[in-house]
Amino acid sequence: MNTTAPLIDPFARAISYLRVSVTDRCDFRCVYCMAENMTFLPKAELLSLEELDRLCSSFVNLGVKKLRITGGEPLVRRGIMTFFEAMGRHLETGALEELTLTTNGSQLSRFAQPLYDLGMRRINVSLDTLKDDKFAAITRWGRLPQVLAGIEAARAAGLRVKINVVALKGFNEDELFDIQSWCAQHDMDLTFIEVMPMGDLGNEDRLDQYWPLSDLRARLATRFTLTDLTERTGGPARYVRLEETGQKIGFITPLTHNFCESCNRVRLTCTGQLYMCLGQEDMADLRAPLRNSDDDALLQEAIRNAIARKPKGHDFDYSRQKVAGQMSRHMSHTGG
Ligand code: SAM
Ligand code: SF4
Repeated sequence: MNTTAPLIDPFARAISYLRVSVTDRCDFRCVYCMAENMTFLPKAELLSLEELDRLCSSFVNLGVKKLRITGGEPLVRRGIMTFFEAMGRHLETGALEELTLTTNGSQLSRFAQPLYDLGMRRINVSLDTLKDDKFAAITRWGRLPQVLAGIEAARAAGLRVKINVVALKGFNEDELFDIQSWCAQHDMDLTFIEVMPMGDLGNEDRLDQYWPLSDLRARLATRFTLTDLTERTGGPARYVRLEETGQKIGFITPLTHNFCESCNRVRLTCTGQLYMCLGQEDMADLRAPLRNSDDDALLQEAIRNAIARKPKGHDFDYSRQKVAGQMSRHMSHTGG
């Protein structure tokens, strides 16, 4: 078997992007993501930092060019900087083109500079409101000033920041233009995400909170001239430019748009399960081959076999007023 050939799936899509959840834990309890009393996985189930290094390095050797670290909250995992430093090695050699992070921002005051120093250049920070009381309500345990200070630290360190906002009906509809102009002022990109039917936290509520981005977009168009950008990232985001501010705004609508034909990504959970598609239950366990042998041959074979099973597309569908393809796993487990 050729051990260095790139990963190509049965639909001729090259797999160049890996999202990795490094922990299921978090210092927040966002209402759409976690229950307040979460039971987290026993430590032995989690991949160790060394195992994460081995696994991610195998993917990089097989042609993955972009690595996004997520969680749970990646920056609350103890010792996580050792892992980031290990991935920084691949940036230095050029094997990896981009190392990036999705974070709630709470720990950025501490970690932004070291992350920049090891080669990270861009991060996504999730933030759904600019109001203290609403922030405390939606994240349950989060405090807005701490996150705003983290964002400032990131910008000061030289990191480019993109703000991710989950669009929630009746919650942040009224802040649409405040958030947009705050991002413009600070030269930060902005992406809106449609709320997804993940987990088992009461999906009726989730449907209640559903604010279609087509509506959000129409509201933006009442004040701005929107130009569709053709650039695609292989993911579910589409972009527009607001001509008046020059801002780029992204829309992630995994439920209403079909982006599968250009999908270049797979996701790894913090327990070493590889999901070939966000909307399908099929997964491959990579922890067993990782733990069963010190040699990477077994692991690489398991990765190739998994990619050979990547499905053509996903099954999410809100249109029939029920959640088809509803996932039983939590977003914090798979990594958002
Ligand atoms: N803790 C980090 C954070 O919040 O950015 C990384 C993990 S979080 C699971 C990744 C992204 O998923 C966040 O932008 C979050 O808002 C989003 N997310 C979580 N639950 C979601 C849901 N049910 N629907 C849509 N987005 C969700
Ligand atoms: Fe934590 Fe991120 Fe989930 Fe919020 S969305 S609970 S910050 S993992």
